[in-house]
Amino acid sequence: MSVTMGLFADGRWSPGVGTAQVRNPYTGAVVGTVTRASPQQARDAVRALAAAGRGDLTAHDRATILAATADLLYRERDDVAVLISQESGLAVRDGHREVTRAVTQLRFCAQEALRVHGEAIRTDVTEARARRLAITTREPVGVVCAVTPFNRPLNQVVTKVAPALAAGNRVVVKPSEKTPLSAIRLLDTLLRAGLPPDQAALVCGEPAEIVDALLASGHVDMLTFTGSSRVGRLLAASAGMIRQTYELGDSGALVVMADADVPAAVAAAAAGAFATSGQSCRGVKRVIAHADVADEVAERLAEAASALVVGDPADPATDVGTLIDAAAADVVERRVIDAVAAGARVLCGARRHGAQYWPTVLDHVPPDTDLVRLETFGPTAPVVRVRDFAEAVAVVNGTRYGLQAGIFTRSLDLARRAGELFDVGAVVVNGGPQFESPNIPFGGVKDSGLGREGARYAIEEMTRLRTLIL
Ligand code: NAD
Repeated sequence: MSVTMGLFADGRWSPGVGTAQVRNPYTGAVVGTVTRASPQQARDAVRALAAAGRGDLTAHDRATILAATADLLYRERDDVAVLISQESGLAVRDGHREVTRAVTQLRFCAQEALRVHGEAIRTDVTEARARRLAITTREPVGVVCAVTPFNRPLNQVVTKVAPALAAGNRVVVKPSEKTPLSAIRLLDTLLRAGLPPDQAALVCGEPAEIVDALLASGHVDMLTFTGSSRVGRLLAASAGMIRQTYELGDSGALVVMADADVPAAVAAAAAGAFATSGQSCRGVKRVIAHADVADEVAERLAEAASALVVGDPADPATDVGTLIDAAAADVVERRVIDAVAAGARVLCGARRHGAQYWPTVLDHVPPDTDLVRLETFGPTAPVVRVRDFAEAVAVVNGTRYGLQAGIFTRSLDLARRAGELFDVGAVVVNGGPQFESPNIPFGGVKDSGLGREGARYAIEEMTRLRTLIL
């Protein structure tokens, strides 16, 4: 099998100092061999990026490149979906969903590239009677360093690269070492779509060494990180005085109140808990059900989970592929075993083979078990029973996380109070925490992160205001 270059620096693909194999988590077969860069190569890559300057792309040029990238990805969607599936173990069906989302984001950011505006402000607002006009413009921050996770190998990279380029930045990508191939494919697609080669870089290698080298180089103006809260905290402690955003983990809650449309709530819970093999930051990780409907919720959810096809990710009929590796499945398995020891009851699943973990529904899960207190990155739907809304609020807010949460209720009052009291970035009424749209802000509170994504909001983070006072 040929070797894939994992270093794009100074406008060209270059060899590194070693290689790393990417294996299909289902078959164990080698999917690709990627070159690894040294810390010095990482420093050189970002120095060249900084030296290249902004180039002469207009907003129109940037929009055209992003739209052309979307078109190319769409045309090549079958190949890309297979690549995602092969390197991550996600069902090819999940791969297709991911390409669709990536295409949508690219198209949306192409439009947003045309709307990077400031404002005009009159200053005659104090006793000083200063009759001046301040004009603000949004300028790119410069070099954006994007560090991305394995769980959506293409889309998490697009989420950062598309707004960074739309805003006029240069970008260096450090993809997950577990899934570098989709990121490499994305950069290749951007280049084929017309991105000037001196406006982007990509560096694969030993994560801590490469990211440290990039950040210590003095050439990175912004860090945009998506990954675990643990690594996010590490980077926040060392990144220094540069712009930073962090999109981290969650234990996403879906609350089902006594007056809920239970079938709709269960459909949302199943989709949120089991898509991408349960490895989604905004997935459903806890189903918090009012005692009056908890039996029905748990029973229907177990039916939905049992109906899913688990198996070969390459088979288009498969709903749930593998987790990223056997070690990840092992963590899920141990947490389920511990929850059962603490009193939870397994209704279906709780079965593992290698990196594969079967969709699992548990009832009567104590809220203080690691299964629900921590982020469990696998296809589990633990039902936590509560007696009333106040207890639901306490359980939702009882973790270190706060990304998104959903509530099913027919009561406008409860919906409104959930919006106020759930300590999260967004509350979805009669939907799961997995809801997304490219034109709304996305991001968490507490250990779920800092800053916002979503095309326009990411562009705001990736630009700085400059003011001219006339
Ligand atoms: P991770 O934190 O292990 O890795 C993320 C990135 O950081 C990878 O590129 C990795 O190589 C790099 N990294 C690892 N250790 C590092 C170190 N010591 N120094 C510098 N960089 C380092 O996360 P993961 O396991 O790849 O991804 C899963 C996590 O990402 C989950 O917690 C999930 O919730 C989170 N996530 C969050 C969002 C969001 O938008 N909030 C989206 C997707 C994933």
